[in-house]
Amino acid sequence: MSTLEIRDLKVSVKLPEGELKPILHGVDLTVRSGETHAIMGPNGSGKSTLAYSIAGHPKYEITGGEVTLDGEDVLSMSVDERARAGLFLAMQYPVEVPGVSVANFLRTAKTAIDGEAPKLRTWGGELRGAMERLQMDPAFAQRNVNEGFSGGEKKRHEIVQLELLKPKMAILDETDSGLDVDALRVVSEGVNRVRDTGDTGLLLITHYTRILRYIKPDFVHVFVAGRIVEQGGRELADKLEEEGYERYVAGAGAAR
Ligand code: ADP
Ligand code: MG
Ligand code: MG
Repeated sequence: MSTLEIRDLKVSVKLPEGELKPILHGVDLTVRSGETHAIMGPNGSGKSTLAYSIAGHPKYEITGGEVTLDGEDVLSMSVDERARAGLFLAMQYPVEVPGVSVANFLRTAKTAIDGEAPKLRTWGGELRGAMERLQMDPAFAQRNVNEGFSGGEKKRHEIVQLELLKPKMAILDETDSGLDVDALRVVSEGVNRVRDTGDTGLLLITHYTRILRYIKPDFVHVFVAGRIVEQGGRELADKLEEEGYERYVAGAGAAR
């Protein structure tokens, strides 16, 4: 049983001129293993900033609050330490890694997180199985990480990582963006397999309700102008689908 706790998190983005632009104005959120949370909000509300801050992206400065995983201070950890502590951040690996194949990358990541290399005897099968479930060509394992990957291939690769690395907490930012209906279904099924293990806490960040037809969240948080402005169960996603964010955006504007 693991718990990710975000307390009164305040974050600014570092602008090129060195100025700080405040984006998150005090975010509170608790995610436990086995729970699926959806963060939904309009474009520009700071959803990715939240994800990047937890990932330790250098462009974002934490100006207040805390993030802990099972009581450990996440914000003082290096990016590697965060991964070893059991945090999986889908945006952590979007970069091209020239000369490193998918197979080598995954094995290295698994070794780093487990603290020992996976058993050769079983690893090949695990990798093939995970790729098969995501309906990926076995030849994909020999390609260089993210080099010329299509949007759909990047997302499938993300979910293969998720299934193989078995993190305590996974944050998936806009996993649905750019996927056609078939890819969305395959990717969602992968997320649901991870969810069904009950060992991983999932934080799905999304603009559209589309993916929530496939992955049913236990909790929905409406995110507007750097804050959570409403929380509820999955019925809140249906309400957002019908009504949009207008009402919340108007409210946030009036409050400023
Ligand atoms: P979302 O993911 O909800 O669309 P983001 O976290 O990407 O929102 O962005 C939140 C706000 O922060 C936006 O106004 C965006 O323009 C600004 N922002 C984010 N990153 C940067 C950056 N690197 N430089 C300047 N502004 C940024
Ligand atoms: Mg955006
Ligand atoms: Mg975003």
